[in-house]
Amino acid sequence: MKRALADRLLEREKTIILVENKTNWQLEKEERIKPSLWWKQVAQAQAQAQNQTTSTEQSDANTPKLTNLSYMQIDETGVVDMNVIKAIDEFQEEYAINNTIWLQLKCKCSPKKCSGFGNGLGTNTSPERYNTYEFPGIHRSLLFGLCALNFYLARQDVYKFRLISSGYRCHSHTDGKTANHRGKALDIQFYKGTWAIGGLNKNNIAPLLYIRDNFFKTYLNTQNDWDNINLFTTEPIGLTPTGEKISGHTYSWIHMDVRSFEKQYLLDEYFCTDATTLNKEKLITLINK
Ligand SMILES: [Zn+2]
Ligand SMILES: [Zn+2]
Repeated sequence: MKRALADRLLEREKTIILVENKTNWQLEKEERIKPSLWWKQVAQAQAQAQNQTTSTEQSDANTPKLTNLSYMQIDETGVVDMNVIKAIDEFQEEYAINNTIWLQLKCKCSPKKCSGFGNGLGTNTSPERYNTYEFPGIHRSLLFGLCALNFYLARQDVYKFRLISSGYRCHSHTDGKTANHRGKALDIQFYKGTWAIGGLNKNNIAPLLYIRDNFFKTYLNTQNDWDNINLFTTEPIGLTPTGEKISGHTYSWIHMDVRSFEKQYLLDEYFCTDATTLNKEKLITLINK
């Protein structure tokens, strides 16, 4: 028994040392451990919402009914212990990016000029807005963000993830002029109930704004413009009152990108092309090294 306890303490110490080590572990820590800080918050928010729902009639048809947050079952203490490590590994498996989504993420240039994630063309410059470099895949944090988004969408029954309408767009893509989609952006589409939100339709705007404000902003801490560094950004959403397109606005999808990330968080090694390069090793394997 004593031996087992000593081992556990040693494991825990190793974990803390890893977490405090701010070298290569920095991104892992920010992208994989920080999400754990949301769990307690979301549980509290859900408890509150459920109390409100039972005391007053639900008046807004957009407001999803929340289900219990029973998954994870760990307390937010700020300490990354073995239970947190295990929960993060389990989360990664349950909310994986499936093969259908990987196909949607790939570049659709025609005729085919790249393997799906460009050819490394262009010089990697600043600012990111004008950076024409073809990064070697999709930024991993965008996909971790997508997994988290699906986790929270699964906790209500109104809005659902539908598909990635655009992921990678290389130089040869017909819509390859924007630098963002060379690995730093995702366009995501949704269902509201059985309605597939899509096309040029004024009715899309309200549900898209709802999803942006109640899921992207709440759980991914997104910003609506590119003002601040190191945050996910969603492109403005809207159509004119008569239903015409507005330049630089999305209207049937939500565009999220990492354009505001500093260069140190946009190294080639943070971009991935498949499940193996996205997830790399499990935390449990990492800490036992
Ligand atoms: Zn291509
Ligand atoms: Zn986009």
